[in-house]
Parts: sequence; structure tokens; C-alpha cells
Amino acid sequence: MSIVYIVSAPSGSGKSTLVNELFKVVKHLDFSISYTTRPPRGSEQNGKEYFFVTNEEFKAMIAADEFLEYANVFGNYYGTARRFLRQAEAAGNDLLLDIDVQGADKIKEKIPEAASIFILPPDREKLEWRLRNRGLDSEQVIRRRLVTATREIENYWKYDYILVNNRLEQAIDELRAIVLAERVSRAGTKRTADEARLIETAQACRLDQARERVQPILASFGADGKPGAS
Ligand code: ADP
Ligand code: 5GP
Repeated sequence: MSIVYIVSAPSGSGKSTLVNELFKVVKHLDFSISYTTRPPRGSEQNGKEYFFVTNEEFKAMIAADEFLEYANVFGNYYGTARRFLRQAEAAGNDLLLDIDVQGADKIKEKIPEAASIFILPPDREKLEWRLRNRGLDSEQVIRRRLVTATREIENYWKYDYILVNNRLEQAIDELRAIVLAERVSRAGTKRTADEARLIETAQACRLDQARERVQPILASFGADGKPGAS
């Protein structure tokens, strides 16, 4: 059985950067390329970051039950195709889904054993700086992303792991540790010293361990950190 990893984050937190780095250091992990009706951005290529389709094509895929989940995000459709999970299973690989909070909820219903990771920026100011510095969005879009970020962040408590992307190198190490620790724990084999260290690093990112670290970040967004607040 493939392990399904769900990664969610407010836009600009560094999720794409972290996920790209993760794929350089972890083997036997496939990326689920989502389908979307939004137009390509920057250097995005069809079939790499996303499959870019029309509304009609997307609706035809819904009708044919081709999606494991789909959602409307920022006015566009995004969907996870079932075939990626089938392909990962056939290849003996695990599968990583980069999806929003709505999608994560739906996957958790269908695949409760999926491991979910929520990436947070160090605080609101740094998120705003990263969005501006990335240079991809207009001022209006940046404003909207910041408002949406607050709403999304309030859902952090639904995830198994919380990763604060402050120092990039450390965040990459933690993401890698979470992925590998899940494999080791599920395999149930005797642990090497390296594996025990990975598990320790991953444990520190578990929701129950991360609550205190999350509070000042939530406060910087003026968000309510109580479970059930969303
Ligand atoms: P997302 O995929 O979450 O929208 P990106 O990966 O595009 O975010 O990152 C947003 C911007 O922040 C990019 O310009 C990226 O280079 C930068 N960035 C990512 N992680 C860090 C970090 N740890 N420290 C500083 N800048 C970062
Ligand atoms: P972006 O347009 O910035 O690439 O993505 C916007 C949001 O849509 C992100 O939060 C991303 O994780 C989410 N997303 C991408 N693909 C999917 C998908 O297949 N399903 C769902 N539910 N969300 C997705």
C-alpha cells in the first residue's frame, strides 16, 4: 500500500520550494499532478506543475468520476486524479498531494491513514514579504492571498504535522524526516540509529508538540487558534 502524503499551506509559505527540494532527496515518491482550470503562471508547463484544462474538460472528468477529490479554489477548479494513486500503487511508490484544506478534508475521509502536513510561514510579515519578493502576483492578488491565508491557517489543527518554514535548510530536513519516519514507523522493522533520529525530528513536528510554536504565528495573522474556529 502506498503512503499518501498531503501537503497544504497558505500561498507564499514556500510549499513549492520545499516540495521541489523534497523530491531531490527522497526516492520512490510520486507527485500527484492536479488538474486545474486556472491559466498557467510564469514558467509553468502543462503536465509538470498541473494539467491545464478547460471548464468543459474538467466537468467531463467529474462526470466520469475521475477525481479522488476536487475543489474550487480562488474561483478555479482543482482536482486530484484517481489514476495517480493507482499508478503509484502499481509502481510501489508513495504519493504526495499538494492540495488545499478542502481537498485535505476530503482525502482524510477517503484515506484516513494519509499523513497530512501543514506548512506555516514564520509570521504574517514574512509571508507578505515572500509573496512580494516572488514577484508573481499583483498587489490585489497579494492582498487576497493574505486574507485567505488567515482563514487557511485556522485549519492547522486538522493536520498530523506542522512545519514552520523559517530557515529553508531546516524545513527541508524536517519535511524529509516526516516522510521517512512515516515509512519506517509503518514498516515496523527494527530501527537503525539514523532512523531513530528521523523519527525524533518528525515527532517534534507532530501537532501536539507544535501547538506552542504555532500560537505566535496565528497571533501575527490575528487568527483564532482554537480547534473548531474555522
Ligand atoms: P508557495 O508554493 O507556498 O506559494 P513558494 O515556494 O513559491 O511558495 O515560495 C514563495 C517565495 O518565498 C519564493 O520566492 C521562495 O523562493 C521564497 N521562500 C521559500 N522558502 C523560503 C524560506 N525558508 N526563506 C526565505 N524565502 C523562502
Ligand atoms: P495555485 O493556483 O497557487 O497553484 O494553487 C492554489 C491552491 O490550490 C493551493 O492551496 C493548492 O494546494 C491547491 N490545489 C492544487 N491542486 C489541488 C487539487 O487537486 N485539489 C485541491 N483541493 N486543491 C488543490
